[in-house]
Formats: sequence, C-alpha cells, structure tokens
Amino acid sequence: MNPDLETIVNLAKKRGFVFQSSEIYGGLRSAYDYGPLGVELLRNVKEEWWRTMVRQRDDIVGIDSAVIQSPQVWVASGHVAGFSDPLVECQVCHNRFRPDKLDDPHECPECGSKDSFTEPREFQLMFRTNMGPVESEENTVYLRPETAQGIFINFENVQRTARKRLPFGIAQIGKSFRNEITPEKFIFRTREFEQMEMEYFCRPDESDRWFDYWVEERKRWYIELGLREENLQFREHDADELSHYAARTYDIDYRFPWGWDELEGIANRTDFDLKAHAEYSGEDLSYFDPETEERFIPHVVEPAAGANRATLAFLLDAYHEEEVRGEKRTVLRLDTRLSPIKVAVLPLSKKDVLTEVVDEIADLLRPLWAIEVDVTQSIGRRYRRQDEIGTPYAVTVDFDTLDDNEVTVRDRDTMDQDRIPISKLIEYLTERLPS
Ligand code: ATP
Repeated sequence: MNPDLETIVNLAKKRGFVFQSSEIYGGLRSAYDYGPLGVELLRNVKEEWWRTMVRQRDDIVGIDSAVIQSPQVWVASGHVAGFSDPLVECQVCHNRFRPDKLDDPHECPECGSKDSFTEPREFQLMFRTNMGPVESEENTVYLRPETAQGIFINFENVQRTARKRLPFGIAQIGKSFRNEITPEKFIFRTREFEQMEMEYFCRPDESDRWFDYWVEERKRWYIELGLREENLQFREHDADELSHYAARTYDIDYRFPWGWDELEGIANRTDFDLKAHAEYSGEDLSYFDPETEERFIPHVVEPAAGANRATLAFLLDAYHEEEVRGEKRTVLRLDTRLSPIKVAVLPLSKKDVLTEVVDEIADLLRPLWAIEVDVTQSIGRRYRRQDEIGTPYAVTVDFDTLDDNEVTVRDRDTMDQDRIPISKLIEYLTERLPS
C-alpha cells in the first residue's frame, strides 16, 4: 500500500527531512527547506544521478552554469515569447488558477462561485529581476527556468576543451525557477526547484536510436534505486502534445498519492536550441565530423529530471508500515545509497562506561559513512527512529562489549541481529553498504 501525502509530509517534518520555509513568519507558500536528513537524502539522489550520468561514463561531462544569464539566451530559446501557462482569475475572490488544473472549469475552488472566471490569458512563468543598481528595461534579467540552456550556450566551449566527438553529453544539476501559477503537492511543484538535466548531442540520423536508449537508461535508474515498477508508468506523447522544440517526448510517471504524474521527461529536442543560439548570437555552433568530413548542427536528446520530485517519489516508495509483535513499525526501506544515515551507533545505556567504546566505533566508521550516534531514550525507541529515517544498520554497544569487544548489528529490513567483533565491523558493513 502506498502512503498518502499527509503521512509523508508529517514524517518529513517530524524527523527533519523537509520543513515549510519561513515557518516562523507563518510560512512562505510553495517554498520548502531541507533539514539535516532531507539535505542528505536530496544530495544522495543528486549524487547517484551524477555518478551514473557523468562519472561512470566516458561520453558525458558535467558543467555548472550561472542561474542568471544573458537575457538573449531566453529570447533565442523561445522562453521570453512563449514560456507561459494559461491563467484565469475568479472575479469574486480574485484568486488565480491554471484552467487546465481545475477539477471543475465552472467552479472556483477557493470561494465556490460559479462561472466567475475571466477569459484565460497567458502568464509568463519566468522570474524577472534587474541586474545592477539601475532598474530598467535594458537591465532586466531572468532567473533560469531550466538548466538546459546553460548547456547549449556552452556547447562550443565544452566540445573544444573536453575534446569530445559525437555522440557525447553535457550534464548539469542546479536550481531552476518558475513562477508557477499553482504550486502544489508539497515538494512536487514549487517555484524554486532543482533539475538534473543532460543534453546528449548526436548525429541527426541517430537521434531516434539515442532517444530509445535514454528512455531505457532512465527507467533503469529509478528501478535500480528502488522504485517499484508497479508505481512507474512510461508514456510517449502524441504528436499534438509535443512542445515547440521537441520531435518526440516520453514521460516517466510515478503513481503519486493523487495519481500518475511526471517524474521526468525525455525529449528529442532536435537541433532547435543550437540552431536558435547560432542564429541569435551569430556564433558558429556546428560540428565538424572528421570521419565523414561533414559539418552539421547536432541533434540532442534530453533526459530532464527533477531532484525534488525524485526525492519525494523515493520517500513515498520506501515508506512501509508493518506489524511486529503486535506493534506498529514504520520503516523507510530506502536503497542504502539513498539513506541519509548509513549506520547508527547506539549505546544500550547512557552510562559513562560505554562512552569510550562508542566514541571509538564512531571514529572508526565516520570517515567511511554518514553515521549518527544516538544516546537518548530507550533502545526500542531509538530503533524505531532509525527505521523511520531509513538507516540500514544499527550498531548496538552493550555491557558485554566491554568484555568481548563485540557489538550487535541490526538490519533495518529483516531486523536480524548479528553479533560481531569490533575488529570485523568495517568488513561486515563494507560488504553491505555503498562505499
Ligand atoms: P510540469 O508539466 O509538471 O509542469 P514540465 O513538463 O514543465 O513539468 P520540464 O520542463 O520537462 O517539466 O522539466 C523537467 C523536470 O523538472 C520535470 O519532470 C520535473 O521533475 C522538474 N520540474 C519542473 N517543474 C517543476 C516544479 N515547478 N517543481 C519541481 N520540479 C519541477
């Protein structure tokens, strides 16, 4: 059974994964802050993406481009003219909505008025601000609404310096900003979020093949990291659903508590972006193929994922409630690569005699994994906390440890306990945890 959203929101708040932003000022709608565990989980999601998409491959390199770029970038990309959503306003309560997201197009979800909406108008989703001390039209800049354009405008720089031949990719993880009309569903849709995008440049006649390849690779990534296949849905868009830049688009959807919704989109963006930037900048962004001696503008296949949406999906999918000896146990069965804390070190009692050996074990493990030493409350409650935050192993130090130099290691999923010598602890955990 999949949990409802409220269960995850409550767990996230109670355990320190995600907090409402600016809570002490009454909260800022649609903005969230990641707490000590949330930041580890989010970083692990991004790290896993970077590892599979960049580090483990010879054909992909990474960049980190600026959030604020030349406004020309967004003219060329089509965002200034066309990055908008339809908006309607209720003439009674003056709240604004995206008509395509309304349950009933005739009824205001805020005040219940009937047929009170204005005609839809297009609302620009890019955040605008001014660069420098003068507020003027010429100084208007935008916060990037996607990380992809930072890659296209560096295509030539990267290709030349990394000396890559087609096919090759450029990846980036970073914040994007969209002034969404209706931010919703916790961290699913916010106005500030993190994207994980990769642009894979290839010969035009090979783009279909690479598109299929990346669809499979991206599915595999989610499944290998623990999302259950029954909670994933894969869907190619029909021609009439395609965005202006895409020849083909494929969605990876997750079964969120409110229904199927997008986790990631994979698009064949053709040569749309490089061509546009070549035209607007006057720079030559073509590629010379030394083998065929042809010059052309590469086509590009883009897997575009959201780090926050992925984090939410991993949390939802990992959440389990079960009965153990008549008691309810909540456990996050996160893949060990994603778990915020890999090992908990728990002295059976707060007594000082155990402190030295606990410190010793913590010093041993800390260089290798994210650990937590927890001395508060009863051991049962501490196990419950570690289960609830998805810690795969708990090492318990008891009074016998002082004599036999052995500790008890408890497995989160099976709850089996192994008694092992401290001298073998690293070996034992190394076999079971990611390095
Ligand atoms: P949607 O239709 O849900 O608004 P989109 O199709 O506009 O999303 P893309 O432009 O394809 O999204 O962005 C790629 C990915 O970035 C999405 O699949 C999603 O994971 C993430 N993303 C986009 N907008 C948001 C947002 N407002 N909040 C959180 N993540 C987002």
